[in-house]
Amino acid sequence: MNFLEERICKDGIVKPGNVLKVDSFLNHQMDIALLDEIGREFHRRFQHKPINKILTIEASGIAIAYPVAKEFGVPLVFAKKSKSINIAGDVYTAEVESFTHKNKNQVIVSKSFLQPEDHVLIIDDFLANGCALQGLISIVEQAGATVEGLGIAIEKGFQFGGRAIRNLGYQLESLAIVDEMNAETGEIVFRKQEA
Ligand code: 5GP
Repeated sequence: MNFLEERICKDGIVKPGNVLKVDSFLNHQMDIALLDEIGREFHRRFQHKPINKILTIEASGIAIAYPVAKEFGVPLVFAKKSKSINIAGDVYTAEVESFTHKNKNQVIVSKSFLQPEDHVLIIDDFLANGCALQGLISIVEQAGATVEGLGIAIEKGFQFGGRAIRNLGYQLESLAIVDEMNAETGEIVFRKQEA
């Protein structure tokens, strides 16, 4: 088991409805040493790529993306959620349905912060059905920039997002892939991955 899998086993809570709660170390209270380790691990996995920008989505993505951007020494841009339908100004937009909140948000990124020459690493905390990642990929494409890869802390492998993104040909790295989890027993089964 890697460091994140160990922590999920220790402190993660399986909730009904296929939700894994990691509020005590990632999503509410944040373990900064763990986040730094996540940053180093994504840097190790993507350091061969010419990445000059990290892109994530507010709010919980920012905590994961920050140490990654620090390791690469590049800016971090986060897509903002906007309820308004009339979005003024020079922005790229995508519609993202929230898996946890079951609502739809327009997400926006200012055109000032993504350019055609950018090589982008997309980072998020969870991957479920892939809606958030598809929205971020769409924003990078609208900018004419390049998606160099996608890094996820926790992928729920029993939902279809991961397969869909890998089928598109992207390098998708998930530090922990949960293949099964049981809300009654609390049991969590991880996919075996190469170290
Ligand atoms: P997707 O768009 O892939 O369906 O869902 C990804 C987004 O939903 C992530 O940005 C994350 O915030 C949230 N999410 C999805 N599944 C879970 C989960 O099991 N636990 C938590 N804490 N967040 C989740």
